[in-house]
Amino acid sequence: MNCPNCDKILIAVEKNNIEVEYCINCKGFFLDADEWYLIKHELKLPFLIDDLMNVNPAKDNCNEKPKTCPKCNQVMEKINLDGLIADRCINRHGVWFEAGELAAYFNKRAEGSKNETVSFLGETFYK
Ligand SMILES: [Zn+2]
Ligand SMILES: [Zn+2]
Repeated sequence: MNCPNCDKILIAVEKNNIEVEYCINCKGFFLDADEWYLIKHELKLPFLIDDLMNVNPAKDNCNEKPKTCPKCNQVMEKINLDGLIADRCINRHGVWFEAGELAAYFNKRAEGSKNETVSFLGETFYK
């Protein structure tokens, strides 16, 4: 799979059985739907993380350039999670996050639930 952002090859990075496809160039990553459910289970987060897969597409998102899903190459739709704009595959293959986006999301909504996986998904990649 190639990065939707810069077209470099994505590498699989894994921790606690959660695997993401990561771009070492732009530091974005792709989380597929199955991984997202693992994360939900692992973190026992108090907020509705299902939002990620079910939230309606954002309408006022046109500043960001369209990206294509690394799995199916279809143009992804923008979703807005409390101001965080991410790209979701219209076939629900997963969600693409730019560097630091998910860290920002966790910082906003998961205060106090810091753990290895949050760090893995957020801070580890945001360097
Ligand atoms: Zn990239
Ligand atoms: Zn797809």
